[in-house]
Amino acid sequence: MKKVTLFKGDGIGPEICASVKKVIEASQADIEFEEFNVGEAEYNAHGALIPQEAFDSIEKNHVILKAPITTPIGKGFRSCNVLLREKYDLYANIRPAKNLPNVKSPFDHVDMVIFRENTEDLYVGKEEKIDEDTVYATKIITRKCSERIIRAAFDYALENKRKKVSCIHKANILKMSDGLFLSVFQEISKEYPNIEADAYIVDNACMQMVMHPEKFDVMVMPNLYGDILSDLASGLIGGLGFLPSANIGKEIAMFEAVHGSAPDIAGQNKANPTALLLSACMMLDYLDEHQKAEKIRKAIYKVLQEGKVRTQDCGGNATTSEYTDAILKAMS
Ligand code: NAD
Repeated sequence: MKKVTLFKGDGIGPEICASVKKVIEASQADIEFEEFNVGEAEYNAHGALIPQEAFDSIEKNHVILKAPITTPIGKGFRSCNVLLREKYDLYANIRPAKNLPNVKSPFDHVDMVIFRENTEDLYVGKEEKIDEDTVYATKIITRKCSERIIRAAFDYALENKRKKVSCIHKANILKMSDGLFLSVFQEISKEYPNIEADAYIVDNACMQMVMHPEKFDVMVMPNLYGDILSDLASGLIGGLGFLPSANIGKEIAMFEAVHGSAPDIAGQNKANPTALLLSACMMLDYLDEHQKAEKIRKAIYKVLQEGKVRTQDCGGNATTSEYTDAILKAMS
């Protein structure tokens, strides 16, 4: 039995976790979860975002499946997600966005994989109050962190028979920081002569993603652009309820949906669990449980293709539980 640390999260987290646990169990994957309450609710109840036992569990199991966690806006504690990514050096945030069967989207031919650098850029959270009306924020880009995410993107392209890697940057304005990221990309691309390499300024990339999503294959970018373009990519394939992600480091990996805790629908049995389910499939692949991952993906695609049971975010009226039951039925 492989043990996985499970964080139930805030908002819709517990509901979508319950769905994922049922589906994983039905797949008969060789997985046992160690569950923890982590996040805002845990902080309010016990004063720590992540209890020590949860850290101990991560350091023993090395694999985390994480539901979304609420982060206060403009005040309060720092993001728990950023903390985990930094603490365990989960440098590669991989987010595959692909059209799903029968999920309405104005866009066809979407099949892009975003590689978001996960440990630096503006996300280091270094802000300095100069005076009452002036705040400086520090953007950090280093050769080391740029190299490893760019190399990860090219290696992924090679292993997955992808044709192209695109670098997304703003080096026309941020000539030194994004300039460094772009120049590292240009250097590393020479080591992969069979993979096409090109580059887009981030604002143009947003327009091109909407007008010509088929232009993009694997994309690599600094942290903040990765955050924003991921949500844009989710919009291309039917919304945040469908975009999974993996945060990979040298020793530890964390799998989570791209979306947040969706407080507006929390506790109402309305959330779409697909993004977390597909993240769990990425986790099963990582743990070499490929058949089980494929079984779950096929069941999700079957339910979506049939279109009879779908959650409200994609035009249906099924609850989270009804949608989960339909997937369980499709698996059996
Ligand atoms: P959000 O992703 O939670 O929600 C945005 C919109 O998408 C909402 O209308 C929501 O109802 C909808 N939505 C999101 N996931 C859905 C799902 N699975 N099914 C159906 N609809 C879904 O973004 P937000 O409202 O900007 O953020 C809410 C909180 O989540 C904030 O505290 C933020 O910091 C946090 N957050 C956490 C993570 C994470 O834990 N990885 C990521 C993003 C945001």
